[in-house]
Amino acid sequence: MAQNAADLQGSARLIIVIKSAYWIGLLIIAAMAMTSFVLLRQLMSQQEIDASVSQMNGSQMALSQRIIVLANAIETSPRNLRPQLLDELHKTTAEFARNHETLAERVRSHASMSAEKGDRLAAEVLDSRPYMLEQFTQRLVADTQRFITAHENSPYSVIARDGALDLAAANATLGGYKELGRRVDMRSNERLAEMLSLHKALYYGTVGVIVFVALFIFRPMSNAILRRTYELVDARNSMAFIAIHDGLTGLYNRAFLKDHFDTLIKGAQRRRERLAVIQFDLDRFKQINDTLGHAAGDYVLVATAQRMLGSCRASDVCVRLGGDEFVMILNAAGTTEDINALANRILSRINEPINYQSVTIMPGASAGIAVYPVDADNGTDLLVHADLALYAAKKMGGGAASFFSEELRRELDHRKKMEADLKAAIASEAFEPYFQPQISLSSNRITGVEALVRWRHAERGMIPPADFLPVAEKTGLMCDIGRILMRKAIRKAAEWHRAGIDFGRLAINVSGTELRENDFDTFLFDTLQKEGLHPSKLSLEIVESVILDDEKTGIAAKLRHMRSAGVYLELDDFGTGYASLSHVNPNEIDRLKIDRRFVQNINANGDNTKIVRAITELARGLGISIIAEGAETEAELELLESIGCDQVQGYSIAFPMPGQEAQEWLQQYGRKKPVLTVVA
Ligand code: C2E
Ligand code: CA
Ligand code: CA
Repeated sequence: MAQNAADLQGSARLIIVIKSAYWIGLLIIAAMAMTSFVLLRQLMSQQEIDASVSQMNGSQMALSQRIIVLANAIETSPRNLRPQLLDELHKTTAEFARNHETLAERVRSHASMSAEKGDRLAAEVLDSRPYMLEQFTQRLVADTQRFITAHENSPYSVIARDGALDLAAANATLGGYKELGRRVDMRSNERLAEMLSLHKALYYGTVGVIVFVALFIFRPMSNAILRRTYELVDARNSMAFIAIHDGLTGLYNRAFLKDHFDTLIKGAQRRRERLAVIQFDLDRFKQINDTLGHAAGDYVLVATAQRMLGSCRASDVCVRLGGDEFVMILNAAGTTEDINALANRILSRINEPINYQSVTIMPGASAGIAVYPVDADNGTDLLVHADLALYAAKKMGGGAASFFSEELRRELDHRKKMEADLKAAIASEAFEPYFQPQISLSSNRITGVEALVRWRHAERGMIPPADFLPVAEKTGLMCDIGRILMRKAIRKAAEWHRAGIDFGRLAINVSGTELRENDFDTFLFDTLQKEGLHPSKLSLEIVESVILDDEKTGIAAKLRHMRSAGVYLELDDFGTGYASLSHVNPNEIDRLKIDRRFVQNINANGDNTKIVRAITELARGLGISIIAEGAETEAELELLESIGCDQVQGYSIAFPMPGQEAQEWLQQYGRKKPVLTVVA
């Protein structure tokens, strides 16, 4: 979570950096382009002024020449042409004077506005020596006017010597204009050159900025983006990997198999090959976990996965379904003999001892095999069939491989039929509690009564729990059945309680599946309240493996909660689990129920006597009650009494009985308090 948040923050920061760098780069380039544009505009307007000055200057030079030519022509031409020429000279002079004024004004104002030396130099031509253009122009204009007046006044006489035009002034004017033109042109050229170099600088500057931005901003940034992209791709890939792989062993997981089984089958179908599904299961995994700890269990699982991978081909698929269940899908599986040989080879490889922290572990494994297309044509059925074959292999003692068979198919059909029947039975609540009393040998009092489920089947009559509970567990129907039974048994016990019939405590069997239901305790308390039975009149029989199921599942907390409300907790089938003694805590358990197998024949079997005595002493030492189940004979009862195991349940006392019969038994026993007699 924290890593994700940091990643997100990093990405957000990177995006901000990219955006800012992009805008800064863009702004710098835009500013340079703008500067370039403004300078160009300035240059062009100055060049325009220069061009107009230059043009005017040229026309002034032409005009001054024309004045001289006209004056000459007037002096030499026939008289009749003179008035016309004089008029022409008059106009030319006027134009010359006017133009000069405009020109002088432009040059001066330009010089006064501009800080540049060239502009001032041009203005100097007007007033400074040696050109004194202003002065000579005025002199030329005045002299020409004088010339015109002289010739107008004496049109027919020869003009006196001083009547001629002052050529010196005219030449000086021409020289001045020439110089002015030269300086303006020079200035213009200089400016152009300056501008050109400035533009060059701006151009290189812009290119420089672009290169800088590309090299130091966009390149690192694109590298960062690339890195991020790779990281994202990696993250996506590893997420995809995690989604279809088992975290512990690295094998494919159930989700992968679910998605790809059909593809594998289609491939086999196309190639007309057989496909073998081998399901493996470790025989002693629970024992390893319980005695050596979960780390050892994990180590064994990883080692098993490695051995599986090491003994199959690259085209085969190895999957961990969960817990200690593995599946191998073999492509191009060959004949049944081939498959059998391969399965046995893998089994013997898995069965090799594993060294863990100087302990040698013998995990042991069994295998169940189903083959496409012989046993089934789809993934789900193949898995179910392989699982059934595995179950059969385990039933035969484990350590071997078993093929799915016709017999198993019949069993499966039976199971399917039973599942349908069970569903109907749940709907009609066809489950009944039978009650089996428990008594104290020393006081002859009734200490309890165990409720045992019976299924009243419409055609098959009464069905014992061993026949249908495993199917109910496998098909997810256990909880529904358990709840029907709890309700009915509690109702009956509440009835007895109201009628003043002594039954000690009602003992109900609960499986791990039932306890794992979130609302198990709520359901139980609601039922007790509704039926009117106090929690202290109830006892729950739980097998050790459920208690071992640790804190993770929430069962331990639920049990503590129920116990604090007064419900008794008992360890059922005590002695058959692996870590029995270490898990007996008087703060969690009220009574131990010694398993039937230690009780039967206890009078003849010295080992059983020792075991039951040890358990009894242990319980007494811990201050926990104890009861022996399955006591069938008087001899067994006597021995139990002599050991000090006071409470008993078994055929020697009474068989499990339907509600009404049990009630009569309880009433009769309460009245007579008979001396013990063995029933059968
Ligand atoms: P369990 O809890 O060990 O129940 C005792 C079993 O021993 C009962 O079998 C009972 O009929 C049998 N039994 C009692 N006295 C003797 C005797 O003297 N000799 C012999 N040979 N057997 C005796 P049952 O009723 O067939 O129940 C089998 C198992 O089914 C139970 O074993 C219990 O684990 C489970 N079970 C029964 N009812 C329920 C239930 O309502 N809920 C759950 N979760 N499990 C149940
Ligand atoms: Ca029981
Ligand atoms: Ca039992």
